[in-house]
Amino acid sequence: MRKPLMAGNWKMNKTVEEAISVVKALKRSISDVTDVDVLICPTFTTLYAVNNELKGSNIDIGAQNLFWETKGAFTGEISPAMVKDAGCSYVLIGHSERRQYFGETDETVNKKTKAALAAGLIPVVCVGETLKEREENVTFKVIEKQLKEGLAGLTAEQAASVVIAYEPVWAIGTGKTASPDQAQEVHAFARKAYGEMYVDASQKVRILYGGSVNPTNVSELMKQPDIDGGLAGGASLQAESFTKLVKYSK
Ligand code: PEP
Repeated sequence: MRKPLMAGNWKMNKTVEEAISVVKALKRSISDVTDVDVLICPTFTTLYAVNNELKGSNIDIGAQNLFWETKGAFTGEISPAMVKDAGCSYVLIGHSERRQYFGETDETVNKKTKAALAAGLIPVVCVGETLKEREENVTFKVIEKQLKEGLAGLTAEQAASVVIAYEPVWAIGTGKTASPDQAQEVHAFARKAYGEMYVDASQKVRILYGGSVNPTNVSELMKQPDIDGGLAGGASLQAESFTKLVKYSK
């Protein structure tokens, strides 16, 4: 019912040449995949070239951020229409690194989500608790707040079209993955909390897991009923490992 989505977040990695070399290999290695949606999110400076290389392929591209205003005196920012113009169909919003280092809040996540939707982009909205919050047993409270504030005020149709990524902060780039049971528990909770906001959308919305997803743990994670895909950082940087994520054994 929910088509899996395997997404790669390249963060601040790769020149145009390096990016093109990976997507050329990826295009070949996953050209036969039809049962999983595939997305890569390169840097802003490589989007245009990557999009040209991927035209006609089964790989979508997304940006890693955007600004909610449409244009004007906002030095260094990129508007939703510009992201769309570069060939993107998705955009990551509220990644924990942006929350941690660049002052992203649930309020800015909400503004960006609405602006992305208005421009015809699919937002991949990231939520997740820190290690301290998990140890203090407030994981559910944190996720609920991030969802209720970050995704407030959408239409039913928009609510079903967004993608949510559960990324426990303690598992990002650390090699520590949430166990399939731990991840499923939060995914089920997130779906329930989203259902209190948008009844119909909650069964349609895709909830990805992110946090040290790799070729070894991907299949067990994907077996969980409320995990609809993955958002990978490190394992998406090479065509070989990302292909293994996309072609996880079912
Ligand atoms: C991420 O960047 O969203 C991420 C989950 O990174 P990693 O897979 O490297 O933990």
